[in-house]
Order: sequence, then C-alpha cells, then structure tokens
Amino acid sequence: MTEKIYLEDSYLKEFDAQVVRHSINEVVLNGTIFYPAGGGQPNDKGLIVITGTEYQVVDLRKEGDDIVHVFNKPLEKNVKAGDSAKCVIDWDYRYACMRYHSALHTLDGVIEKYYGSGMVTGGQIYHDRARLDIDMPGLSKEKALEMIDKTNAVAKEGHPINSRELSKEEAMKIPRLSRTETGRKLLDSLKTVRVIEIEGVDMQADGGLHVKNTGEFGKISLGNFENKGAKRKRMEIILI
Ligand SMILES: [Zn+2]
Repeated sequence: MTEKIYLEDSYLKEFDAQVVRHSINEVVLNGTIFYPAGGGQPNDKGLIVITGTEYQVVDLRKEGDDIVHVFNKPLEKNVKAGDSAKCVIDWDYRYACMRYHSALHTLDGVIEKYYGSGMVTGGQIYHDRARLDIDMPGLSKEKALEMIDKTNAVAKEGHPINSRELSKEEAMKIPRLSRTETGRKLLDSLKTVRVIEIEGVDMQADGGLHVKNTGEFGKISLGNFENKGAKRKRMEIILI
C-alpha cells in the first residue's frame, strides 16, 4: 500500500520514500506526495531521484491501494526494491490546483446557500482555470457575475478550510455531502468518508487537496460562460 502523504499534508513539496516495486518505466513507493488525479483535480507533475538519476513523473495511476508513478524514461538497470526515492513535486502547479479547488468549493457553497441546492452537476480543475456545470435554466451571465461577487465577498472573510475523516454513519447524517451521482455511489462503497469543510460556507465529501483558508485563493473572476443546453450552463472561473 502506498501511504498517501499528500492527504496528511497538502503543503509538503519534497518527500523521501523507498521503492517497493518497479517495472520498465514505472515505480511504486511506500509513500508519496504525488496526487494521482481525482475529484476533478489533475495529477501532480514533478520529479523523483533514485540512485542519483532524475526521472520526470509524466503520469500517475491508482492500482488498488498502490499509486504507480510513470516516468519519462526507463529506470536504470541497478534500481531495486528498498532504494531511496526523493520525490519533488512541481509546487507552483500543485498550489495553483489547490487554490482553484478551494475556490470552486467556495463558489459551490455560495450557489447552494443563495441559489438553491442541486444546481451544480459537475466541475473540473486546471492549474490556470476551473469550471462548474450548473443545472439552472434561468442562469444568465449577469447572475453568474453576481455569484462571483458573492464568492469574493465570502472569500475575503477568511474562512478556515479543513479536512477530516468521518464514519459512514456520521457522513450519512449530513445532507448534500456529495452533490453528484457518481459521488453518491462512491459514498455508498466507503467505510470512512473524508470531508472538506470551508467553515460556515460548505462541506463536501472530497479526496482532493485544498489551501488552508479562503484568503489564500483570494479573488476570482468570470471566464467563459457557456450554454450547454436549455438547462445546463458552464461557468469558468479565473483567479485574479
Ligand atoms: Zn472537490
């Protein structure tokens, strides 16, 4: 099992791990700070140094409880289980994704609070933008701009953002902990549920990585605003 160090500390930029197993250009470590994509957040980039050779991490995937790091080139022949592996993530990229992730949850929380529940149907995070899909027939660009203004006002209040594990029983008592169909199915299959709480704003089941306070993403603006059908609207946000 790969220990998911990124869940314990999303601010860790470097980590010393050990090789557990490897194949031509892939390696599994005993622990990692590389986030392997999920919940709309993309996988990390960065490098891993093993026996003096530097490898770029070009992809990551989950294999049961393991996380497989895929390299840009084949491993040197002398690499073996137990070798030390120094992980260094591309922090600028990761931090941008964390800020966007927290901004998106804050916007989602504002929409739930002021515009009615059940509106947000999906989302995607990038390092330079993020988007929400909203099921709201009457949503105009003007109203979307109003949502952005409300989100900025809330962000400015500096709400702490924290993560914790809940038992399934506790999680099931909280309404709207998961807002998508796939999320609800996933909740059903879990024994414990990790939740991200933006104090006073939003609480969601989430496996992703966030900043510690809404003040850390600061302010957002509206990017593209698209009609994806009669009901479905797509709102893009940009950090400013
Ligand atoms: Zn999320």
